[in-house]
Amino acid sequence: MSDDSNCACTAPAYPEGKFNPATYTVHGTSLFEPVTGAISTPIFQSSTFRHPGLGQSTGFDYSRVTNPTRLELEKTVALLEKGKYGLAFSSGMGAVSALIKIFRPGSHIIVSEDLYGGTYRLFQEYYAKYGFSFSWIDTSDFAAVRAAARPETAAIFIETPSNPMMKVTDIARCAEFIRKRGGKLIVDNTFLTPWFQNPLELGADIVVHSGTKYLAGHNDTLSGFLALSCAETEAELRNIQKSEGASLAPFDAWLTLRGIKTLAVRMERHGQNARKIAEWLRTQDIVEKVFYPGFEDHPQYELSGKQARGAGGMISFYLRKSGYVPVLLRSIKLILFAESLGGVESLLTYPLAQTHAAIPGEMRLSAGVNDRLMRLSAGIEDPGDLISDLEQAFAACTGAAGHRGK
Ligand SMILES: *Cc1c(COP(=O)(O)O)cnc(C)c1O
Repeated sequence: MSDDSNCACTAPAYPEGKFNPATYTVHGTSLFEPVTGAISTPIFQSSTFRHPGLGQSTGFDYSRVTNPTRLELEKTVALLEKGKYGLAFSSGMGAVSALIKIFRPGSHIIVSEDLYGGTYRLFQEYYAKYGFSFSWIDTSDFAAVRAAARPETAAIFIETPSNPMMKVTDIARCAEFIRKRGGKLIVDNTFLTPWFQNPLELGADIVVHSGTKYLAGHNDTLSGFLALSCAETEAELRNIQKSEGASLAPFDAWLTLRGIKTLAVRMERHGQNARKIAEWLRTQDIVEKVFYPGFEDHPQYELSGKQARGAGGMISFYLRKSGYVPVLLRSIKLILFAESLGGVESLLTYPLAQTHAAIPGEMRLSAGVNDRLMRLSAGIEDPGDLISDLEQAFAACTGAAGHRGK
């Protein structure tokens, strides 16, 4: 746990030795709703709450500030991330937007060069205008992190495994480095979720989530989270959330809570399916390279095993020819060509044109996002069916390429 020198942080609130994480995913922080005994947290679809009297409150006044359904979800995410506090936002980007406002203009932030394109856009197109500066580097290379640090460096913001190149950054090492300099380590834990990785335990200060992905898990809602243990930072973030208003709606909070109930079983299955597909992809002639942190020859395989309990459900791969891309995308029948990840349905994404379109061409290329890169989010369908679907689509690629060659 981070012992942030900037504020009075204390130990995490994760109840010790009571239950194991899989139990908490099912039950959250309360087994039932105390008034009615409802086992499913009710959707408190109310914008405002009656005050018992002047200067009195039930603890709930207005839903932009606090809402009982959202509060149960916030506490559940904090519990799973082994933090003291959780804050729920209308999307992952809503969470990142709130987070960056804890830093002052003039701050410098070191950021993983291959990360979610929307985060790049927000930082570079907007916050750079407001006096922030960013260094986009390969954070899996610690020497590069150290070299990028400046006196005004206020934070390191990483995704690990990175998106979409699956590079793994050493969380504990970055945490120690930035804490000594009085800054904060922020980890976007969307890809592995707390089921596989707990950055706060490794020393990170703040965890970010797009709850839209694995936490909600069914491609049916947007949500975003911050989890942390520092009381001062939490108070500031609460004030930002209340002031900006990107708070998560009660129904979307409920959908995310319901999704989290099956997080443990889903993540295990996502992980198993991804491994099978990654191994199969490696045997395919039309695939040049597969990026998956569960391979023993992945450059950070050992680090990944040290800081995470699984390799996750995401795979990226290079096709040998860019001409295969359109054929593959129109030939898949079960796997869906769509943006996003982390749901029960398998999705295939073309990062160049979709998730990473906001990143300038040369930067994208130097990060490895070329016109042959595909990203697969392995769902929880039958793995044989998923592989068969890819097999027939790959056959269409080589068939079509052969045909064109005539
Ligand atoms: C999707 C995503 C985001 C943004 O989240 P939204 O819920 O779409 O706003 C941020 N980080 C990562 C890693 C993501 O995959």
